Amino acid sequence: MTPDLSTTAPETTILEARGLTRHFAGPARLFGKTPSVRAVDGVSFGIRRGETFAIVGESGCGKSTLARLLIRLLAPTDGRVIYNGQDISGLSDAEMRSLRGELQFIFQDPFSSLNPRMTVGAIVEEPMQVHGVESSAARKERVAQLLGRVGLRAEHANRYPHEFSGGQRQRIGIARALASGPKVIIGDEPVSALDVSIQAQVVNLLEDLKEEFGLTLIIIAHDLAVIRHMSDRVGVMYLGEMIELGQTDALYDQPLHPYTQALMTAIPVPSPKARRMSEGLSGDVPSPSAPPTGCRFHTRCPHARSRCSEQKPALEQTGDERWVACHFWQEIKRPDAGLDAETVRGDATARRFELYRSWSEGKNPATPQR
Ligand code: SF4
Repeated sequence: MTPDLSTTAPETTILEARGLTRHFAGPARLFGKTPSVRAVDGVSFGIRRGETFAIVGESGCGKSTLARLLIRLLAPTDGRVIYNGQDISGLSDAEMRSLRGELQFIFQDPFSSLNPRMTVGAIVEEPMQVHGVESSAARKERVAQLLGRVGLRAEHANRYPHEFSGGQRQRIGIARALASGPKVIIGDEPVSALDVSIQAQVVNLLEDLKEEFGLTLIIIAHDLAVIRHMSDRVGVMYLGEMIELGQTDALYDQPLHPYTQALMTAIPVPSPKARRMSEGLSGDVPSPSAPPTGCRFHTRCPHARSRCSEQKPALEQTGDERWVACHFWQEIKRPDAGLDAETVRGDATARRFELYRSWSEGKNPATPQR
């Protein structure tokens, strides 16, 4: 299951997973062996400097665990993580401390991810203290700059998280992530807990900050419309494995894996003229403690044949920058497998984001957003 990463040249690769695996102890059984939960199982791919890479899949597919493995918030059971050419998978917590500032995380829940007993100023200042900005005056000045940059005001530094809305708290979380001068930021469903209108503002803010600070973004999400809008490449996960990977436009225009085709039907269709061309998903996701043999998707796949339950498909390169793990992708491939052109190009989400961008550009940037 190791894709050929040759198109992700070492000099352009900032972060790389090689056979990355994480198993957790499952619930204890009275009799017999306790099965382990195979949350991430042998995932390999590279992330390019400066790109936005999205990881998508249903809830429970392992994408959040993979995100935490990539920046060593979790240690792998097996496999390696290479950051800027350095194997960081075996580093101790003390050794990781010096790299922590470069690898930052934005959490899904803006309500529980901020310490309610700390002021906003102290929350944003803390990473600077940890990563060696010694002058208190310099830290305070930087806090004011960062709050302004994410659309808050300098005087908000003296308030507490509970005084802010969900969107503002996520902005505080982004300011905190920026405080240590990161190179890579991973957002684990960074907008899914927010109102639809606020989602667009936060997504636009992340895109602007990416350009301004030269960041590499990794976005974990289940909202495929948001992913289409903001990512350069997409990796699709199913039951702990990467089953398709490619450039965003190509993957959305022609998904090759039956699972990706089915996921596409989850995108809201804005037009009554729009057509859905692929079958939806049926059945539940199997347990990751007892994944199906062969292709893990065979219990839900409308194209499954006997070979599928016997032999695991390798992640095969199918073209430029494209990989898929399916024995029969060439037979299944259909020119109309994705959403039709009008649906994709006339995507309501893109229009929504553009609308909010134009609104926010017309406002004083120091005006706090909801
Ligand atoms: Fe479906 Fe078989 Fe392809 Fe798996 S290998 S996605 S079961 S056709």
